[in-house]
Amino acid sequence: MKVLFAKAGAPRISPVFAQEKRFPIGIGFLISVLREAGHEVYFIDNYLHPRNFIEEGLLQENGIDVLGVHVDSICFDEAEAILKGAEKLRKKGRWGGKIVVGGPHASVMPETIPEYVDHVVIGEGEKVILKIIDGASERVIGDNPIAELDSLPMPAYDLAARLPYDTTAPFIDETPVFSMNTSRGCPFECTFCSVGSVWGRRYHCFSANRIIEDIKFLRREYHAAGIYFREDNFTLRKDRVKAFCEGLLSNGVNIHWMCETRVDTLDKDLLVLMKRAGCAGLYIGTESGSQRMLDFMKKGITIDQIKEVFQWCGDLGLRTLASFVVGAPTETSEERKETVEFARNLGATVYGFNVFVGIPRSFLYDYVLANKLYEHIDRRGLIYLEGHDAMVDEFYDGNPLMKIPRPKGVREHLYALAKRVRRGIRKN
Ligand code: SF4
Repeated sequence: MKVLFAKAGAPRISPVFAQEKRFPIGIGFLISVLREAGHEVYFIDNYLHPRNFIEEGLLQENGIDVLGVHVDSICFDEAEAILKGAEKLRKKGRWGGKIVVGGPHASVMPETIPEYVDHVVIGEGEKVILKIIDGASERVIGDNPIAELDSLPMPAYDLAARLPYDTTAPFIDETPVFSMNTSRGCPFECTFCSVGSVWGRRYHCFSANRIIEDIKFLRREYHAAGIYFREDNFTLRKDRVKAFCEGLLSNGVNIHWMCETRVDTLDKDLLVLMKRAGCAGLYIGTESGSQRMLDFMKKGITIDQIKEVFQWCGDLGLRTLASFVVGAPTETSEERKETVEFARNLGATVYGFNVFVGIPRSFLYDYVLANKLYEHIDRRGLIYLEGHDAMVDEFYDGNPLMKIPRPKGVREHLYALAKRVRRGIRKN
């Protein structure tokens, strides 16, 4: 079979940061699984480099049997444009393949996927894509979590190396840095997050040995100079991280790496070992400087825990990024100030604020709906709280592309007005 995977283009307007051009590891796994099963796989990344491959006739010219489109909520409009284009070709009888949709948005809001899409994949896609190719008939289709992640082939790193992705990482000075994803699922219940709805609450992961073998491969084949572990909680299983660090040291794998995690899955001994094994820095979900807000968001950590971990990291020379959420429901302006002060004094190398936006299938999404706290719900299903734009002014320097998306007519009117004003200024 011939399968083409497409990643939708970056949104023009997005209330969350959406500029990172990194290789989509999830699609990379699907590509490898299909290659291993003997299929011919094509990949178009419109996020990296937009092109209208539907109009270019790529589906017909290459005799594509299955088009798989990856959908994030923020790229929903861009993904829908691809889907509409493919369906138009089918209606005109110019292409006769199947259309499949997967990715986080498909998992949390399958009901928003257009009717003409043949299959909507929920959760992990590796087993499901094989079932679809073998003729599965269910439209909304998922499977049990993969019991042994080590059984998966490496994601298609050849594409990560060949295409012009961002190969830098915040705390790693050398390049190229490759992204890896070595775990899935999250047992925590942070109320602003929907990861549990996408991947499930059970945490499962690649073994330490497998990660080390993959890193050796990346060094040998692509001269990898660093690894950025892009996953929600790299250090959840401390025994695995310990084995990973000891394995790097005993195998003489000398490489810098960084990971993303929570303060309560770290301790001083582990950080000392991580530093010795090449860890350059950590991205940590600190969320708030107010204990009441941490509790309200069910983060399950304390202010003292956050301070202690950042102190350890500072002492060890580990660089840190502290990530905060501001403007979540019930947050008072005093608590927001407390968070800003806390961020300034924490000693993090870098800190950043994310203005709260309700994400479908998170607890706070339902809370905002039930309590009618929203000012706007956009086409992608994202919820904006009252006062969102003022928060964007305060925390995102007023970036208009992160404000509440105005209805099309209003936006065009404002644009035309701005153009007239500019013309007037030029004339004068
Ligand atoms: S924010 Fe992180 S720790 Fe909390 S539920 Fe989401 S993935 Fe898990």
